[in-house]
Amino acid sequence: MAALKERRISPKLAVILASADPATLSYLRVTERLAAELGIAVQKVVLSSATSEAFVRRIAELGEDPTVSGILVETPLPAGVDAGVVRGALPPEKDVDGAGTASLGRLLAGERSFVPATAGAVLALLDGEGIDVSGRRAAIVGRSLVVGRPLALLLLARDATVTVCHSKTQDLAAVTREADLVCVAVGRPGFLGVGMVRPGAVVVDVGTNWVDGRIVGDVDFPAVAPLAGAISPVPGGVGPLTTTILMEQVVEAAERIAR
Ligand code: NAP
Repeated sequence: MAALKERRISPKLAVILASADPATLSYLRVTERLAAELGIAVQKVVLSSATSEAFVRRIAELGEDPTVSGILVETPLPAGVDAGVVRGALPPEKDVDGAGTASLGRLLAGERSFVPATAGAVLALLDGEGIDVSGRRAAIVGRSLVVGRPLALLLLARDATVTVCHSKTQDLAAVTREADLVCVAVGRPGFLGVGMVRPGAVVVDVGTNWVDGRIVGDVDFPAVAPLAGAISPVPGGVGPLTTTILMEQVVEAAERIAR
């Protein structure tokens, strides 16, 4: 950050908010805390009229604002707002959560882009543990646009053999048991049980579920941990890394804008 200051670069993240979803607000507080520690400004943009047009207009204004480095649209979007229209409006050079149509298209094409922070966090976690996925079988459970799908593309780009599973997958356990790496993003506490993991497999738990006032993952951690080769915890693991990746991408956007 000192180096950025020297170069007179002041990263700023604009966060567009239109709902008071408790999980969203809690994620925003974590984001603000880390941003403050890193010297990144956060501008909260609360939309009074929650329509697709209001989102598009505000995104365009922030896109043109030279003081804004990155734009994050908090989800879930309010009812009646067209997610596709909002995605389409996000300018790729400020789309620091890789959520827009242009960024996702670039990811699909294997071109340089900001990546969805959660999917990026899974890769950072694997890198941090020195886990190479090249040639290995990866099963991803969950196919959302924020986690499962981009993660599949990122792992594919690293030469993993990827299977994406979802609610219609038949005999899911047979698929996950074959995998060297199992990533779970389903949103159900303790979903991935002991019979679904091959001994020695790497297990990455993306799930963030509130149960009785505490956060638990999608993996039955006490049962799966003893047989896994490596396993990420919840809380900890992917969650905090997601915010870190987001901040890295805000700084990168600010640097690119300053060039
Ligand atoms: P989502 O949009 O609700 O998607 C859930 C996925 O799970 C869907 O693809 C769904 O399949 C699949 N699924 C549901 N039931 C299943 C079953 N019985 N068998 C196999 N697949 C099943 O959720 P999301 O936004 O990806 O989030 C998933 C979890 O990750 C949540 O706990 C969320 O809080 C967490 N999360 C964490 C972070 C973070 O730590 N940074 C970020 C984002 C999300 P269909 O597509 O067929 O419906």
